[in-house]
Amino acid sequence: MKVAVIGCTHAGTFATKQILTEHPDAQVTVYERNDVISFLSCGIALYLGGQVKDPQGLFYSNPDELAALGATVLMRHDVLNIDPTSHTLTVKDLNSGDERTEAYDKLVMTTGSWPIIPPIPGIDSDRVLLCKNWAHAQTLFERAADAKRIAVIGAGYIGAELAEAYSLKGHQVTLIDAQERVMPKYFDAAFTDKIETAYREHGVTLALNQKVQSFTTTDQGVTIQTDQGVVEADLAVLCIGFKPNTSLLTGKVEMAQNGAIITNDYMQSSDPDIFAAGDSAAVHYNPTGKNAYIPLATNAVRQGILVGKNIVTPTTKYMGTQSSSGLALYGISLCSTGLTYEAAKQQGVMAEQVIMTDNYRPEFMPTTLPVQMSLVFNPETREILGGALMSKYDISQSANLLSVCIQNHNTIDDLAMVDMLFQPTFDRPFNYLNILGQAAQAKLATEPAKVNLRN
Ligand SMILES: Cc1cc2nc3c(=O)[nH]c(=O)nc-3n(C[C@H](O)[C@H](O)[C@H](O)COP(=O)(O)OP(=O)(O)OC[C@H]3O[C@@H](n4cnc5c(N)ncnc54)[C@H](O)[C@@H]3O)c2cc1C
Repeated sequence: MKVAVIGCTHAGTFATKQILTEHPDAQVTVYERNDVISFLSCGIALYLGGQVKDPQGLFYSNPDELAALGATVLMRHDVLNIDPTSHTLTVKDLNSGDERTEAYDKLVMTTGSWPIIPPIPGIDSDRVLLCKNWAHAQTLFERAADAKRIAVIGAGYIGAELAEAYSLKGHQVTLIDAQERVMPKYFDAAFTDKIETAYREHGVTLALNQKVQSFTTTDQGVTIQTDQGVVEADLAVLCIGFKPNTSLLTGKVEMAQNGAIITNDYMQSSDPDIFAAGDSAAVHYNPTGKNAYIPLATNAVRQGILVGKNIVTPTTKYMGTQSSSGLALYGISLCSTGLTYEAAKQQGVMAEQVIMTDNYRPEFMPTTLPVQMSLVFNPETREILGGALMSKYDISQSANLLSVCIQNHNTIDDLAMVDMLFQPTFDRPFNYLNILGQAAQAKLATEPAKVNLRN
């Protein structure tokens, strides 16, 4: 069996390893246009902020490791065309310039995503940088050295992390976004209001509710004109989102509107010999039960493994995702899973929400810290749809627990009473997540009429 894996960051690396584990005799050829594999982009902000000193630690595999497992790894090879009818692809060796045609029996499309670059006048400037891969990370690091003023465009979690990192390094940072809040997709206003305060306390200028209209580059810097005013910077970093890198298969397999490849539960596209995983593919979003585009490494590694398990026979089903994610800004951990209340409303999902704060452990302990929590749930079925936590205490594993609750269709009643350990070092007789579930129960007990009216 000849398997062609196109693209080798996370989904490609995991797919290759799993295919060779399940089928050691498979002839796997990996085509990667870059000269590195497995770069963890999640470390870029940590590298720029100085927490990660050695960026080589951000790679967990390399071409030699895959070759030792039996793969033929062709680095600096760009796949130019795929012909599903003849089961062939055209590939260009970027070192020699040679092009050739190769045959495959199964094709794994792990070509990932690329930053969205809108057609804004002046955007094609050497002062407007992207943030996606290892080459970008190096440029961002080098160019920051001479940049006093840095504008980060896009206040999703990547822009949010970059703005924090640059502000901690002493740059004058402006965070620009067309939305009126930072990270609106992940957190409701009760959370983002506090983070916005933290940005301001650290000298970051928030230019929210502002759409960038043009960039004008001079020897002195870049002038960013928005519909509300002007931001002067030495560098701008564009972080407004990603689009799937799937043009090779346009019109050849079923895709979502943005080009994400639609797969079945076994990561197989509408062409049974073409599999897709990671940022090139849509995910099954459990809180709504629909396909969605959620480019995360968490999804890429899981889907990559599933490609390996299912490449010959469909055996292991994809569980879907809650899009759980987390970040730490100025010592505050912020984690979310599933739907925010606002997202539920926008998507027409019946939802109610409780937001509360509780100390994670008793006040008689030498220290404790408040945890702000949100729980979004369906008031009719009482199923949990989403949750968020914010604290100086590490609440990341509690967000993971809420993720499991959503995955397993647990209700607020399950969360209210589920067995969790008690010891004052860690928590109270009821863990703070139990208390969050109980708050949701109390809300439905006292406000059923309001719930019905609201939805
Ligand atoms: C700054 C940043 C921070 C992030 N932080 C997190 C985080 O904290 N947690 C999290 O879960 N996710 C995070 N992500 C998202 C995560 O990095 C992506 O979801 C992940 O990289 C997707 O992996 P992938 O293998 O599907 O695709 P990609 O990483 O996009 O890789 C695709 C690969 O395919 C290659 N390729 C494409 N086309 C071709 C072709 N025609 N021929 C040959 N090769 C080709 C590319 O060169 C690339 O190496 C972050 C992303 C960024 C940019």
